[in-house]
Amino acid sequence: TDETVGPASGPAAAYATAAPGSPLVVLERVNKHFGSLHVLQDIDLTVARGEVVVVIGPSGSGKSTLCRAINRLEPIDSGSITVDGKELPEEGKALAQLRAEVGMVFQQFNLFAHKSILENVTLGPIKVKGVRPAEAKEQAMALLERVGVANQAEKYPAQLSGGQQQRVAIARALAMQPKVMLFDEPTSALDPEMINEVLDVMTSLAREGMTMIVVTHEMGFARRAANRVVFMDAGQVVEENAPEEFFGAPRSDRAKDFLSKLL
Ligand code: ADP
Ligand code: MG
Repeated sequence: TDETVGPASGPAAAYATAAPGSPLVVLERVNKHFGSLHVLQDIDLTVARGEVVVVIGPSGSGKSTLCRAINRLEPIDSGSITVDGKELPEEGKALAQLRAEVGMVFQQFNLFAHKSILENVTLGPIKVKGVRPAEAKEQAMALLERVGVANQAEKYPAQLSGGQQQRVAIARALAMQPKVMLFDEPTSALDPEMINEVLDVMTSLAREGMTMIVVTHEMGFARRAANRVVFMDAGQVVEENAPEEFFGAPRSDRAKDFLSKLL
């Protein structure tokens, strides 16, 4: 199990030791509308280096939009978002570099269907970071090993199970050596028996000190791995707290209502 992973090993180690606890992702008064829908309302959120923040909330509350805004897949109307002290660039090469710093794993695996598993992982480092192919391959194989799919490296995504594909998606994001990893419901599209193999990889990353923002309905993961739970409803951060406090004694009626429906 992931209990064997030490605190300072693996791909997250470099970031874990760089000023743990200092702010890494900072959102200030972030607003976003889709037409008349105010989907993000004055969101303030600071994620510290090495912190694991689990975002939960009802469907439609703005969780995916929040993730996409952090990665600038979705422009915001007002407010600011910084990653490691830098504003998000609008476009161009600077944006590609920033996206490399923010790894993202989606509900749908989003692998390149016409590329092998190995190519899926090496492509970004070669194209965006200018890593030499031989080196990219070596790093990719180590990451695939780490997520338990190294023996599938020559196959194509459709030949893998959903759980394997999602672990490849994690390896692909890690290959860019991100400062923070965003996960948007990474296990929601998986068959139940594959959920844990993905959550185990995520739990070991968390234990290594990777900074993570995780949207999930897996409350067991939240209790086990989160430093903080952020509860969103209708475009607002309604409540945030340590998992034991949040699950044990939610303060807001909206959080109580949400949690009661999960049981
Ligand atoms: P969650 O991930 O919490 O389910 P989302 O961030 O996906 O919520 O969506 C928040 C709200 O914004 C929903 O009402 C959704 O229908 C709406 N929405 C999301 N994306 C778009 C879009 N591209 N255009 C219009 N409305 C959108
Ligand atoms: Mg969503």
